Amino acid sequence: MKIGFVIAALAAVGLAVAFVGNGPFLKGGQDKSQGSKKVDQRTAYLNQESPKRKDKVVKTDEEWQKILTPEQYKILRNKGTEPAFCGVNLENKGPGVYECAGCGLPLFRSGNKFNSGTGWPSFGEPIDPDNVWYHSDRSHGMIRTEILCSRCDGHLGHVFDDGPPPTGLRYCINGTVLKFVPDKS
Ligand SMILES: [Zn+2]
Repeated sequence: MKIGFVIAALAAVGLAVAFVGNGPFLKGGQDKSQGSKKVDQRTAYLNQESPKRKDKVVKTDEEWQKILTPEQYKILRNKGTEPAFCGVNLENKGPGVYECAGCGLPLFRSGNKFNSGTGWPSFGEPIDPDNVWYHSDRSHGMIRTEILCSRCDGHLGHVFDDGPPPTGLRYCINGTVLKFVPDKS
């Protein structure tokens, strides 16, 4: 049991080093406009711990079930995945902000959204690196990097390093757990 944990921990560190070694987070770090925050994003990924926030939202499963739809609950609280091309927020191109459906934390901006062709809403980066955190996900025989909401720890999707410039990242998000708030004109 203990040895298994050590092996898992070593594997996680190895994965983190490999991921950073591939450069996506380092590339982001060269963006002078948000330099320091980009470094925080890397650290958050390596730490793989839920960030401590004053505005943390903690609820029981029962409470979550009351405020979320069954689909949202399945994704946010049980790490589910919506079917590709299910359409929620996929085709939306209007200017605005995508918030977490669980707690209302702003997660992504329309300006960072792109059509990845995968069938899930895709973004180059979060609205604020502090609003998401990362966890190594080894489920389903794959090694992926899970993205979670910093405020309610809800599962949002996964991040991949095959995105377009300037970040080279693809935040592949379940549209079901995003609430779109259009910009006021
Ligand atoms: Zn949230």
